[in-house]
Amino acid sequence: MSETKIINAGWLIDGSGGPARKNIRLHIQNGRIVSITGSDYADTEKNGEIDFGSSTILPCLVDSHVHLCMSGTDDPVARKKQIGTGFDETKVIISEHIRRHLSYGVLAVRDGGDRFAHTLRYRNEYIDVNKIPVCIRVSGRAWHRAGRYGSLIGRPPQENISLAEAVKTDPEVKDHIKIVNSGLNSLKEFGKETLPQFGAEELSDVVKIALKSGRRVMVHANGKKPVAIALEAGCDSLEHGFFMGDENLKIMAEKRIVWVPTACTMKAYSELMKPGSREAGVSRMNLDHQLEQISKARKFGVTVALGTDSGSMGVHHGTAVIEELKLLITAGYALPEAIRCASCNGGRLLGIEDFGFISKDMAATFIVAKGDPSKLPDSLLSLDLICFKGNFINCKDEI
Ligand SMILES: [Zn+2]
Repeated sequence: MSETKIINAGWLIDGSGGPARKNIRLHIQNGRIVSITGSDYADTEKNGEIDFGSSTILPCLVDSHVHLCMSGTDDPVARKKQIGTGFDETKVIISEHIRRHLSYGVLAVRDGGDRFAHTLRYRNEYIDVNKIPVCIRVSGRAWHRAGRYGSLIGRPPQENISLAEAVKTDPEVKDHIKIVNSGLNSLKEFGKETLPQFGAEELSDVVKIALKSGRRVMVHANGKKPVAIALEAGCDSLEHGFFMGDENLKIMAEKRIVWVPTACTMKAYSELMKPGSREAGVSRMNLDHQLEQISKARKFGVTVALGTDSGSMGVHHGTAVIEELKLLITAGYALPEAIRCASCNGGRLLGIEDFGFISKDMAATFIVAKGDPSKLPDSLLSLDLICFKGNFINCKDEI
């Protein structure tokens, strides 16, 4: 017998970027949406219909850049400790972070790497996709050049072999490849650029290898040169991209390379550094500059996927998605456009089918947030419902 559910809601944001629709009725059969029609609230008391007349339906969300192994704690001792923690302890931390994502309606995350590939191991040994609706895409250990930034989240190629050779012979079976191609942003000097870690040829060899095995390449890069090299090599997504400049933004639009700006990292620094200090001032300037770049990206037609870098200092799993949505809106995105960055665009970047968009014939995977759209994104803190392929899930369930 087929299972049918009918849900009435006050508003629907479908993930396309278009405006919210008012008073809609979702008809779900066997886990799929069979129709979306207008709803007449005079007859919402019909048998079996579920009424969310004062709430908003929106697609499940994607955080396209997280580090599940790490928390956003700003305690230096705890930060140091979590980097060196063994798998048994870390697996508990990862579970907690996944539970947090789920409770805010984030049903897919892309991990940017960790030093010991704990997240990859966790995904392989502990994730039962039939039990946990959170989709986790992992990069295992990222690659960086020996002696340069990146040891927190990865390792360099072994001595005397090229980056491409290292990637090719890597025994870790990961979903995508993460390369670090610049340093971190300076908190002392505004706009200071670091040198690229790899050349365009080295990176393009990696892209070719990835393509052969059906994997994508995400590149950490800040500054004009490191970003230009990543784009020239044909990476699939550019992570952070602080101070990349207009030319690189235009190239991204043209080549349809996805940008994951992680602006909330700088917001967190600006709030955590000592008030009035140089670091607090520079991180605020870094944030403002990134918001200008995001605004330009929107104008140039760059595809932006929301990513937070959760696990970075002051950037907390789950709630950081709300922070980053607010920053996209500050940079000029309309709410439905910001939601698209956090749903449809992320789903496509992660290669998840049937995800991030609400329409007829799609899987009935969505969230219901209390109140009208003007309450978003804060209303993600108090969801009425998470629906995964037609099943209502209790986000408090143990993972
Ligand atoms: Zn990261």
